[in-house]
Amino acid sequence: MSQELEHVKCLIIGSGPAGYTAAIYAARADLKPVLYTGMLAGGQLTQTTDVDNFPGYPKGIMGPEMMEDFRIQAERFGTDIRFGYISSVDFSSLPHKVVVDEEKTILADTVIISTGASAKWLGLESEQKYNGFGVSACAVCDGFFFRGQDVAIVGAGDTAAEEATYLAKLCRKVYMLVRRDEFRASKAMVHRTLHTPNIEIIYNTETTEIVGDGQNVTGVRVLNNKTKEERILDVTGFFVAIGHKPNTDIFKGWIHMDETGYIITHPDSTRTNVEGVFACGDAQDHIYRQAVTAAGTGCMAALEAERYLAGKEHMIIV
Ligand code: NDP
Repeated sequence: MSQELEHVKCLIIGSGPAGYTAAIYAARADLKPVLYTGMLAGGQLTQTTDVDNFPGYPKGIMGPEMMEDFRIQAERFGTDIRFGYISSVDFSSLPHKVVVDEEKTILADTVIISTGASAKWLGLESEQKYNGFGVSACAVCDGFFFRGQDVAIVGAGDTAAEEATYLAKLCRKVYMLVRRDEFRASKAMVHRTLHTPNIEIIYNTETTEIVGDGQNVTGVRVLNNKTKEERILDVTGFFVAIGHKPNTDIFKGWIHMDETGYIITHPDSTRTNVEGVFACGDAQDHIYRQAVTAAGTGCMAALEAERYLAGKEHMIIV
């Protein structure tokens, strides 16, 4: 006996601010969205503490609590939220085929990709231990907690340069740890970094350990890879800015992406190269990567999915 396939109008993949916002709009437009959360339900924000820059929360809110609010709001309008991850897709024909947990296949008229991105980490045990207790991968999110203190940031790309100058406005001193003897960042960003007086750039340097008192970060052990000299910098905050990886591997071969894996959408739109497939949030945005911008593009994706479906219905009636 053949297994009956579930057919949905709108399938949303991912449960960060982009996915849940898409769900709120799609549900209110009666698209009866089904949302798969992925393995980290609530996305990257569930791994942060206070969120002070999301409008509408004047006193700030904890990241996990905010994502719970997003979920409740999406459910309130009838989104069918399911725990599970999408293991593969087949976008070769309409409706799109999406496989959940390597088992169940769903047919979807529209797919909204909001799978987000994951920060890259150095991979040190001590980095994991103090994550959220002085170690962060987002200066804009967490820099505020280190006002007037000394911090270190690792990385030499545009993100690291931008975040170092951001931190320099809040912190007393920012050590910037660059593993080679030069930056990867653009000339303009390097110029700005070099001309910020309270940023000290330490070249040819690798981070070997995040030092702490068992609760919070108290320093970072660094190694000069030329002289092999080791020392500890006294810092209370350690920021990792060595790049992000968009969670888009399962769409490779179907959806156009840049060399890092960020999904390429049409200008001023969330439309991808595949009809009926839209992408929003950090899976598609390598520039802003904020919860509020992800929510904004999530809204766009749902509106575009709705218009796409309305256009199809119109064609059928005519
Ligand atoms: P990048 O991949 O450009 O840079 C990563 C940096 O981290 C590199 O300098 C790299 O060193 C360093 N790094 C990687 N692994 C390690 C490690 N294990 N230890 C120490 N250092 C490490 O990532 P970004 O996030 O900076 O930028 C991603 C893209 O987004 C880029 O195209 C960038 O231009 C763009 N962007 C643009 C902005 C803007 O226009 N305003 C702002 C932010 C990003 P190495 O150089 O030695 O490889």
